[in-house]
Amino acid sequence: MGFENFALPEIISSNIASLGWEKPTHIQDLVLAPALEGSDILGGAPTGTGKSGAFLIPALVQCLKKGATGVPRVLILEPTRELGLQICEVAEKLSFGTELSCGTVIGGGDREAQRDLVADLVVATPGRLGEVLRKGWLDPDSIEMLIIDEADRMLDLGFYDEVKGLASRLVNRSQTMLFSATLEGAGIQGFASELLNDPFEVRVGVGGESDEKLPELLKSRAYYADSPEKKVSILLHLLSTTRNRALIFVRTKDRVSLLAGRLKRAGFTFATLQGDFSQAERNAAISRFKEGEVSLLIATDVAARGLDLPEVQWVYNFDLPRQAIIYVHRAGRTARAGASGVVVSFVERSEIATLERIERYTGRDIERRQIKGLCAAFPLAPEEKTLGRRSGRAATQGQGGFDRKGKEEEKKRVKLRHRVLKNKGKPDFAAKRARKAALAQAREEKKAALAAKKAAKPNE
Ligand code: AMP
Repeated sequence: MGFENFALPEIISSNIASLGWEKPTHIQDLVLAPALEGSDILGGAPTGTGKSGAFLIPALVQCLKKGATGVPRVLILEPTRELGLQICEVAEKLSFGTELSCGTVIGGGDREAQRDLVADLVVATPGRLGEVLRKGWLDPDSIEMLIIDEADRMLDLGFYDEVKGLASRLVNRSQTMLFSATLEGAGIQGFASELLNDPFEVRVGVGGESDEKLPELLKSRAYYADSPEKKVSILLHLLSTTRNRALIFVRTKDRVSLLAGRLKRAGFTFATLQGDFSQAERNAAISRFKEGEVSLLIATDVAARGLDLPEVQWVYNFDLPRQAIIYVHRAGRTARAGASGVVVSFVERSEIATLERIERYTGRDIERRQIKGLCAAFPLAPEEKTLGRRSGRAATQGQGGFDRKGKEEEKKRVKLRHRVLKNKGKPDFAAKRARKAALAQAREEKKAALAAKKAAKPNE
């Protein structure tokens, strides 16, 4: 189904076409009709699915019905200032050529401009919005539509009471939409039950089958590294063989500095983004990357979450995230809206368990790759582990392998050790098969558990 089926105002349709959006994404397809009819929406959708369009298009159509007034009628809450700026930018593109205007009330922004704001749509972060409302710079009575985006992130940042308090002041609001990467959890359910009125619920790429959480066309690869230094060498090797735009995720701002120093010495140009940057520094970094001045952006999770950075073909996990959901968020920076993309993870021995946990969580295999002379060997095969333990125990127990049985066992062990050494560095197909089998089993168990749950509630 194309956008023409939603009977949108011509100017909006033409702006959608100018953005190159040929047909609605899945979330847009599901949300547009009920939202345009005025229903409340509870949307489960991670970033990268096109959810901004899903709420901005109905918001703009609503504003166009009365025409531009310069008095805010739509309020969009975003967890971070970057997302706020980004959403306002998309709103401006979608409303290009109309009289409508979009403004921001976000932390770090100019207070005077926020005091004198004239806009039909306001995109705000909760903290600054609270201040602006307290000072009476924005009239809550004028708001007809409230949109809460990235509600799960809002909860993570501790904005639960603030958002509820803000919403309760919007007494003339007739439509509310709430979007979140996940709809599970008491916080989101609390928001939904208190703020939404008989909402139309949609879920895209979240909940249920976990393999829906990663973009369809995403490829996932991993390289084993002995040390952070080796990770740098592997990264430099890969960067010198690819020319596309890449995001490089690291765990802390110290790692940003470490990596920045090494990339600089190797002659790469890049931008960096970290949590303690001033607003001006952030904007500068984002626009250098967005406008193509640099094709590499090194970032921490806090700084980069939810940013819409166009045409990112590669996401490098210089450090693996400890939580699988963060892997999914990072992966969501590439392969957006049907494009292809690759996530490459560098994995030290201490991170292997995390990598396997991510595979179980996403239900997808991550392809192990090798670069001769740079990568560490694959993890010990189970038989190799057994070998190490047996010989150790024999030595400490004083058996020394002198009896006949012992000699034969020793021969077997030597054979096995040779095989293991011969295969060192090559893909461990046995381990891969075992991993696949474990994943398949986990999926089966999940299905069986779901079926049992359903059977236990026959009336639902
Ligand atoms: P979002 O999840 O809203 O941040 O959108 C992710 C990316 O998808 C952005 O780069 C959008 O410009 C793009 N996008 C949104 N809707 C569409 C569409 N219908 N067709 C193609 N791209 C889209």
